[in-house]
Amino acid sequence: MQNPYEVIPAEIYEVIQESPLIRTLRMKPQKPVSFKTGQFLEISIPGIGEGPFTPSSSHHIAENVDVTIMKTGFVTEYVHQTKPGDVIGIRGPFGSNYPLEKFKGKDVLILGGGCGLAPLRSLFLTMLHDNKEYNSITFLAGSKTPKDCIYRDEATEWRKYDNVQFIRAVDQVPEGEEWNENVCLVTKLLEKIEMKPNDNPAIVCGPPVMMKFGIMDLLKYGFKEENIYLSMEKKMYCGFGQCRHCVMGKYYACKDGPVFAYDQIKNEEAIWE
Ligand SMILES: Cc1cc2nc3c(=O)[nH]c(=O)nc-3n(C[C@H](O)[C@H](O)[C@H](O)COP(=O)(O)OP(=O)(O)OC[C@H]3O[C@@H](n4cnc5c(N)ncnc54)[C@H](O)[C@@H]3O)c2cc1C
Repeated sequence: MQNPYEVIPAEIYEVIQESPLIRTLRMKPQKPVSFKTGQFLEISIPGIGEGPFTPSSSHHIAENVDVTIMKTGFVTEYVHQTKPGDVIGIRGPFGSNYPLEKFKGKDVLILGGGCGLAPLRSLFLTMLHDNKEYNSITFLAGSKTPKDCIYRDEATEWRKYDNVQFIRAVDQVPEGEEWNENVCLVTKLLEKIEMKPNDNPAIVCGPPVMMKFGIMDLLKYGFKEENIYLSMEKKMYCGFGQCRHCVMGKYYACKDGPVFAYDQIKNEEAIWE
């Protein structure tokens, strides 16, 4: 069994400033990090601390890993000061992954916003690798304003596949910013696509309020609770069920999640806090 405390040094080879608060670090670990999309890593800044982050790159590439990190506090402030050539630490992977086998042959709907797009980019890129295995893939992505829109230059590439739709929206366009795509809440994009609930999966990640209302809409459209998958970002430290910070009722977000089907956790306490 892998040692959960082992820290793998990883050299940053590129830093992409995605938005004023969000950066993608592209890293080359000293040995491959074989994760399954949806799992998370503990990323450490030597002498500062560590935090849980999901890779935003495809799980088909273990030699290089991308993480997309929003500046929110102490550790992430230091993460945002790193530059190419710096070496940081990776522990893991930990937790559950998206059940891709269940998605094969289906119409897959992905709905996300803000920094919640990080695990969804990983899922999306992983599925693009063998996109013909899925009947269709629809990715709806939201941001507050155009300058908060991350992975901005990747849209052209993502729209090249004939069974893939990538649709994005911003909540508002402040004066002086340019945007020629949708202006609405990301959940409103559900009204613009052909809905295929049946037995198809919907994967949701974003700020708690977006996830909550997104799920309510998906249920109204006829998606089944067991086919709606969430990624739960609870406060956690160890990553493998020892520190108990991420307890959600009878589950630990770190080892039973972070990926859960909605029917699994809907009755657990305080899932949106
Ligand atoms: C499984 C998992 C995957 C995650 N993936 C990503 C990702 O891909 N990109 C990303 O930017 N963030 C991700 N997060 C959130 C990220 O871990 C926290 O934002 C980060 O650890 C905050 O560290 P800090 O020291 O900068 O913040 P602190 O100074 O500790 O706190 C600043 C603020 O962030 C909140 N916060 C702290 N830890 C967490 C946490 N674990 N989850 C949510 N809010 C937190 C605090 O309550 C506080 O409001 C993920 C969290 C989990 C549990």
